[in-house]
Amino acid sequence: MHHIAIIGSGPAGFYTAEACQKIFGDKVQIDFIDRLPSPFGLIRSGVAPDHQSIKAVTRRYEAVATSENVRFYGNVSVGETLSIEELLDLYDAVVLATGAPNDRKLGIPGDDLPGVVGSAGMVGWYNGHPDHAALNPPLKGTGAVIVGNGNVALDVARILSKTRTEFAGSDIVTHAIDALDHSNISHVTILGRRGPHQIAMTPKELAELGYLSRAAPKVDPADLPPASEDALLEPGMRKSVELIRQYAANPPSDTKPITIEFDFFAKPVALEGDGKVERMIVERTRLDHQMQAVGTGETYAIPCELVVSCIGYRTPHIPGVPYDEHSGRFANVDGRILPGLYCVGWARRGPSGTIGTNKPDGAFIADQIAADHPIAAGKAGRAGLDALLKARHHDVVTFEDWQTIDVAEVARARDESPREKFVHVNDMIAAKGA
Ligand code: NAP
Repeated sequence: MHHIAIIGSGPAGFYTAEACQKIFGDKVQIDFIDRLPSPFGLIRSGVAPDHQSIKAVTRRYEAVATSENVRFYGNVSVGETLSIEELLDLYDAVVLATGAPNDRKLGIPGDDLPGVVGSAGMVGWYNGHPDHAALNPPLKGTGAVIVGNGNVALDVARILSKTRTEFAGSDIVTHAIDALDHSNISHVTILGRRGPHQIAMTPKELAELGYLSRAAPKVDPADLPPASEDALLEPGMRKSVELIRQYAANPPSDTKPITIEFDFFAKPVALEGDGKVERMIVERTRLDHQMQAVGTGETYAIPCELVVSCIGYRTPHIPGVPYDEHSGRFANVDGRILPGLYCVGWARRGPSGTIGTNKPDGAFIADQIAADHPIAAGKAGRAGLDALLKARHHDVVTFEDWQTIDVAEVARARDESPREKFVHVNDMIAAKGA
């Protein structure tokens, strides 16, 4: 029997498990270990609460989790409850599918002022992640600046702008919808250090900004590159840029109280305020011959009481695991970190791609494992893990326990919401019962 441990139960972990099942058939036991009592990683706490159709993929993951040769060990933290060395002793292969849940820092003066939050915190807050449930971002001011021109920036702008009614059918947690309901934000600036041809926003997500009931997108036509240059873009990007052009052509809205303004060619240089953020100092940029942003020396201030940096993520360290500080992920060659130790998904390649990108990534890592371990080494695997956790009197959350928690979340849902998440680990543990 091959024994494989997958650390982290998000998309990358599940696609790796699925691929290992295909390769090894009934000659494999796969154990998921997750530090939270709930599975599904980014699907539960990263994908926007109003994108329920994307979240439906958990049904496929459930089929894997409940299959004969798979177990889920929730509420078990690798690096705390168990060490990597212990897992490498027990398993033929240990796969780190821990994602990239830490924010990259802006790295400018004032970025630690109250009111400046990272997208991991902001997204985790409205998605009810236990690490961020208490964030309580300031929503009483009128100005918010979102830094970055990726899909996370669009998610945050949309969530800040929706009405309560527009959240119907979403699983946004009650603490967030209540706070957003009383928000005074009327001007959201999406700051891009480069231009419309360099955005990392996809058409579907960009188009959503055009259908908001109380917010209208705004683009300065002067920021648009010549239309003839759009022909050089790949089709997806061309569609996105078409939308930016449409927004530039829109007359200013005098009926919608919130403006979502795209401020291109603008990079943040400092955050200022008396005890909390009050303004962002921004430097106008231009593109150099490598299409990178360079400052022009011209600066201006944007008043804001909330700043959300959506500029990418980093994978957290795990003691004993080599790390690439520059890239913010585990040091690896084709997913191999050390003999028997692998990484997959964002922990391997950084925070890029869609949920679906993890599917070929999982298959690739399963192939590496099969190549490195053609013959099972007779390791203890699951029996050894059970013994270790029992000796440590650790309260493991099984997949059946999670299903009980799931039922409880569905039962306490607000009207027109699929679930009301528990936002504290203790409440999840209590909901599973003894
Ligand atoms: P992203 O797509 O990598 O975008 C990051 C943005 O931050 C870029 O515009 C980048 O600009 C900018 N940036 C980086 N450092 C900066 C700095 N110091 N100052 C100013 N701007 C800076 O990252 P993301 O939005 O966090 O998304 C992560 C991944 O999740 C992406 O693959 C994304 O597509 C995916 N995602 C998908 C969905 C969806 O499909 N619905 C939703 C959310 C996220 P430069 O280009 O100039 O570096």
